[in-house]
Amino acid sequence: MALSPGILPITIKHCQGCGIEFTCGEGGQNGGCWCMDQPIGLPVPSSDSNSDCYCPNCLEKIRQQYLNKGI
Ligand SMILES: [Zn+2]
Repeated sequence: MALSPGILPITIKHCQGCGIEFTCGEGGQNGGCWCMDQPIGLPVPSSDSNSDCYCPNCLEKIRQQYLNKGI
């Protein structure tokens, strides 16, 4: 599947953490998904459009947990 770099289909996702509905594929600094702006190492399944992602709120919580563990 060949997509133009930086352009993603915008899909409605449901957060794996809290279950709220949010959009994936937009909001990023480079025109991609906002989750692509998150630090490498977070469990963001952005490469698989069939899997649900985490909402920004939960991703922030996860990031804090990682920081607390010193990873
Ligand atoms: Zn969430």
